[in-house]
Amino acid sequence: ESKARSRGQFTLFADEMDARYLERQRLKADLRAAVDDNDITVVYQPMFTPDGRGLACCEALARWHHPEKGAIAPNIFIQIAEEMGIVSAITHQVLRKACIDCGNWPETIGVSVNLSVHDLRHGDLAGTVERILQETGLSAKRLHLEVTESSLIEELSAARAMLDRLRQLGITISIDDFGTGFSSLSYLDTLPVDVVKIDRSFVRDIGENARRLKLLRGIVSLARGLDIGIVIEGVETREQLALIKKHNCADLIQGYVFSMPISPHAVAALAEQAELTGIKGEAGVA
Ligand code: C2E
Ligand code: MG
Ligand code: MG
Ligand code: MG
Repeated sequence: ESKARSRGQFTLFADEMDARYLERQRLKADLRAAVDDNDITVVYQPMFTPDGRGLACCEALARWHHPEKGAIAPNIFIQIAEEMGIVSAITHQVLRKACIDCGNWPETIGVSVNLSVHDLRHGDLAGTVERILQETGLSAKRLHLEVTESSLIEELSAARAMLDRLRQLGITISIDDFGTGFSSLSYLDTLPVDVVKIDRSFVRDIGENARRLKLLRGIVSLARGLDIGIVIEGVETREQLALIKKHNCADLIQGYVFSMPISPHAVAALAEQAELTGIKGEAGVA
């Protein structure tokens, strides 16, 4: 009897595995169709000066709205696209849309696009970027590219050659999720890095945890010593913002405390408002 039961359980388990597998296969097919149809859209999260007055740049963030399932998080569909070998098609779509949208904003505002580790390994990213800049007419000065620290470490030698070429075009190179790659940091001295985006895990509890704040300040002074710009990601609260300002930890702030990711039109509207008044009465914290 117990054998029968365990066989029954196994069958149930196997069915569930099948169902999950099929679900994943369907999601892959849908993603491929969305990419083929140029259906990946882009929203933009502004980066502000710590006083909230200057809007310097916006990060382009890919969005996929699935016809039945609704919004699928980029952490999920980017990973699926990497498995399928089609992530570069997403990079190119986002790059093109970001360059077009940025061209409609005031000239002082840049746009920052995320790269996948696959973009470092395969294809001719620098060539593609150069072509997209030509086609859209955006100045290379306004384009930033974000490479995660972990993909950089995985592909150090390929990355070095590619980043050198991109830098020669006049593009700004940022290290994304900085501080989460468990690296020796010696690459900072030898790679063409302009900006580090300090991961939000360093900010989350700086209010309660004095050691976390010290760690953050240490990273900041390291980057400053190397003449590298500092963006802090994931700043959510006024308390976090006040501490970052008090200890002069950032050149730019990206986080919900100032703005969620928004549409390209909303960026244009915000740009006007930012120049005139600063954002959302930030003066209260200064
Ligand atoms: P990321 O590049 O580190 O982007 C920042 C993520 O943090 C975004 O999530 C953003 O919405 C979120 N965020 C911003 N401010 C806050 C905050 O104050 N609190 C919290 N909790 N989160 C905040 P999103 O849009 O879901 O993107 C997640 C990740 O997906 C990105 O992390 C990036 O690694 C990847 N991704 C997004 N778009 C692309 C793309 O076009 N290409 C590639 N290769 N990866 C992308
Ligand atoms: Mg990023
Ligand atoms: Mg990041
Ligand atoms: Mg990330």
